[in-house]
Amino acid sequence: MTKNKYIDIDITNLPTPSFLVDERLLKKNLEVLKGVKDRTGCKILLAQKGFSMFYFYPLIAQYLDGTTASSLFEAKLGYEEMEKKVSDKNIETHIFNPAYRDDEFDEILDLTNHIVFNSFNQWAKFKDRVFAKIKETGKKISCGLRINPEFSEVETEIYNPAGRYSRFGVTLENFDEKRLSGLDGFHFHALCEQNSDALENVLKIFEEKFGKYLYDMKWVNFGGGHHITRKDYDIEKLVRCINHIKNKYDVEVYLEPGEAAALNTGFLVSEVLDMTKNEIDILLLDTSASCHMPDVLEMPYRPYIFGSGMPNEKKYNYRLGGPTCLAGDIIGDYSFDEPVKVGDKLIFTDMAHYSMVKTNTFNGINLPSIAVYTEKDGLKVIRTFKYEDFRNRLS
Ligand SMILES: *Cc1c(COP(=O)(O)O)cnc(C)c1O
Repeated sequence: MTKNKYIDIDITNLPTPSFLVDERLLKKNLEVLKGVKDRTGCKILLAQKGFSMFYFYPLIAQYLDGTTASSLFEAKLGYEEMEKKVSDKNIETHIFNPAYRDDEFDEILDLTNHIVFNSFNQWAKFKDRVFAKIKETGKKISCGLRINPEFSEVETEIYNPAGRYSRFGVTLENFDEKRLSGLDGFHFHALCEQNSDALENVLKIFEEKFGKYLYDMKWVNFGGGHHITRKDYDIEKLVRCINHIKNKYDVEVYLEPGEAAALNTGFLVSEVLDMTKNEIDILLLDTSASCHMPDVLEMPYRPYIFGSGMPNEKKYNYRLGGPTCLAGDIIGDYSFDEPVKVGDKLIFTDMAHYSMVKTNTFNGINLPSIAVYTEKDGLKVIRTFKYEDFRNRLS
């Protein structure tokens, strides 16, 4: 399996573990997103929570309209690596944070041009600072309010931003139209890995509850969770949803997908370090579920490995474990047509989003290197990590 038949990139000399992001695949996704923009005139932002590989921000800026952030640091990354670097286009830097910190807000005013507040209290607390900044510098800063439609078809509760008791956004019961003055937009985020029928259903409720206030707004942000680049995604319905809202309320529509931008664009390449046996055959990999793909344990989900099958689907069965001392650092049970040997490379697919941004160095396990494949330069390792990256977080 060393000479790899599943990928058209020669990974023989790639260090392991490595995240490998293929620019050709990323471009394909960006073209799909751009197609939605072209057909609707909506704006699409990259939600950096899902994908923050800023190496590609100049490329992404050619297709999308900017970034959105959940924190000061993400906002700074979006500003420095996209807005500041791309001067031939009007790139936007947005932020939503559930509760802004006093000591970070000045910098947020410097970095961003769209600020979404989670509550009327937050808006009341910071609005004077926003207006003072605008007056002082002439900078355009547009503010919005996050709305909680109290409707969502997300079934996994930890990924449901509009579930019962959710801390995100203002519910209808807590909505007070007298406190809207100065706000330009509404924001809701109620989807997770969903198709446009789920958006359509949320929009119906959102319009029923808040539509009458939308006529006075300049924009509405439909949040993220739109799985636009998935094969079975119904783009026609998304286009209809966006155009309906744009035309009816005369507002700008924003989408801010994270996952859809990087869906199926990257791999995690790992090597088998050893095998052991305890009733079953166990492979010890140089990549860890706990450190390098924590969503495998948290979400949880089963990542796909090229050439693998479900347990007992193929002849040779293995449990795949990571290099930490956490007993539960198990990626899963897989089967293969051929016996797997020490030194073989296993390629995990769809690892660009949410895995890369969530890595950690628990147990002193080093982070995967970061590599790119581009048509221009081929395979290139753009970042490796070392002891200091581990040490510097700890005191
Ligand atoms: C997580 C999040 C996104 C991105 O979600 P994806 O599922 O990655 O598309 C966008 N907006 C907000 C407010 C979020 O919390």
